[in-house]
Amino acid sequence: MQFRDLKKQYEALKPQIDSAVAGVIAASSFISGPQVAELERRLAEYTGRKHCITCGNGTDALSMALMAWGIKEGDAVFVPDFTFFATGEVVSFEGATPVFVDVDKDTFNMDPEKLEEAVREVVNEGRLTPRLVIPVDLFGLPADYEKIQAVAEKYGMKILEDGAQGFGGRIGEKKVCSFGEISATSFFPAKPLGCYGDGGAVFTDSDETAAYLESIRVHGKGSYKYENVRIGWNSRLDTIQAAVMLPKLQAFQEYELERVNEAAARYTQELKNIVKTPVIPEHFYSSWAQYTIQLENGEERDRLQGFLKEKGIPTMIYYPIPMHRQRAFEGLKLYQECPVTERLCQTVLSLPMHPYLEREEQERIAEAVKACLMRS
Ligand SMILES: *Cc1c(COP(=O)(O)O)cnc(C)c1O
Repeated sequence: MQFRDLKKQYEALKPQIDSAVAGVIAASSFISGPQVAELERRLAEYTGRKHCITCGNGTDALSMALMAWGIKEGDAVFVPDFTFFATGEVVSFEGATPVFVDVDKDTFNMDPEKLEEAVREVVNEGRLTPRLVIPVDLFGLPADYEKIQAVAEKYGMKILEDGAQGFGGRIGEKKVCSFGEISATSFFPAKPLGCYGDGGAVFTDSDETAAYLESIRVHGKGSYKYENVRIGWNSRLDTIQAAVMLPKLQAFQEYELERVNEAAARYTQELKNIVKTPVIPEHFYSSWAQYTIQLENGEERDRLQGFLKEKGIPTMIYYPIPMHRQRAFEGLKLYQECPVTERLCQTVLSLPMHPYLEREEQERIAEAVKACLMRS
């Protein structure tokens, strides 16, 4: 059994993917081929944004947004304490200061009240300028943008959405990657919509920001590649990756999202009486990058993980270490305690989840979880 079965997905889409890759090789248009523009058009349409600018990976997508806004030393950028490292890493990379905010115990996402408390601490201290909030749509579930937006507006901050895990999620009819003034996502293979290597994209409705992003992803180009008007990067999505993603996007829209939601509902049905299962608030829709349960404590979590491993069931701990405890952030001031994150890092366990997970596999997993927890 695979935690996220990319081989099964390939088997299902093999004819389309093989011919898409062969087509790129035959045309030998490896960089900025027509499939890249086609994918950008389809992704912009899907998310309801004016512009989609693809790039080399999700981390670059976040960094490019920070560059577009000139985020720099002396700026405070508020990020959840419970997320993948890159969300905070890009802030420090630009010389700005990540301020870690605790998360909600049910949704795993940034707690808007804790956000306001952290902003107040920063304002009172008077050393940094609150510039930006980076909410993360963790495990596929959009953050609470209505409340976060209110805090951001009150303190004059922008919102950069980290939708790396959230692609396909929505609140009402509004989709992930449409919630930030700029939004970023990742096409790392294991994300809800993945490619066959590294890839990412930035979304915005601003023509000016889009033009800037298109420039910095190709060496700060001006009107063409060999006229350079600013210091930029080289961060493009390969044509082969875009070609692979076109049929994958179609499957994602046609049935994959629906299937992961069905799988999540089955897990919840089976497990809700014995463990804390994920909470999806009303009007929210998740793309289930992960299905994450919470155990009573660290010992129980580790015992369950060991038990499942013996039965050939792979699980993952997303995430074992709060951001503020990462050694790379050593010495950064902590503006608030993050007890919820501390607890989640001890108690969470993610179960196998993907659109090709069979009902029988899920039943086996649920039986094993029950067998382990009811025995004690
Ligand atoms: C995966 C991920 C990223 C980084 O994406 P890459 O494509 O791996 O660079 C950023 N933020 C979050 C929340 C992620 O899960």
